[in-house]
Amino acid sequence: MVEPHVHIVEGRLQVPYSNWYGGPISGFFCDLRDHKRLRGTRCASCSKVYMPPRSICPGCFAKLRDWVDLPPTGILLTYTIVNYTYSTYYQPMDAPYPVGIIKLDGADTGMCHLLGEVVPEDIKIGMRVEAVFQEQRKGNILDIAYFKPA
Ligand SMILES: [Zn+2]
Repeated sequence: MVEPHVHIVEGRLQVPYSNWYGGPISGFFCDLRDHKRLRGTRCASCSKVYMPPRSICPGCFAKLRDWVDLPPTGILLTYTIVNYTYSTYYQPMDAPYPVGIIKLDGADTGMCHLLGEVVPEDIKIGMRVEAVFQEQRKGNILDIAYFKPA
């Protein structure tokens, strides 16, 4: 009997890249970076407010051109605890850490983000949360460091 040859090489791959978010979403990240301002888009047809902003309404396919300022506060719709570190390069922190879906006040949709300043036992669906911004912001979603209990 021939033994199969299985040779696994462990490694880490880091690929430099540039990503253009597109016009509307680039504006969102510039506002976040420069002014700590959170802006969603409102559909003129169905009035739904999207956060994070979208350029097309998935409900009625209307083009979204109306911007809405949203507060840094909202409610936690759901959450999970990430218990596995698969990449210290691609994950924002070492596991375990909580991740939630936050619906900002005035928005109709939720955004995924980290939860901080809270132990898992105290996290409750429906709890009020508020954004904590990074001191040094780079124009990406991690300019919000995390959401903490409000
Ligand atoms: Zn719509």
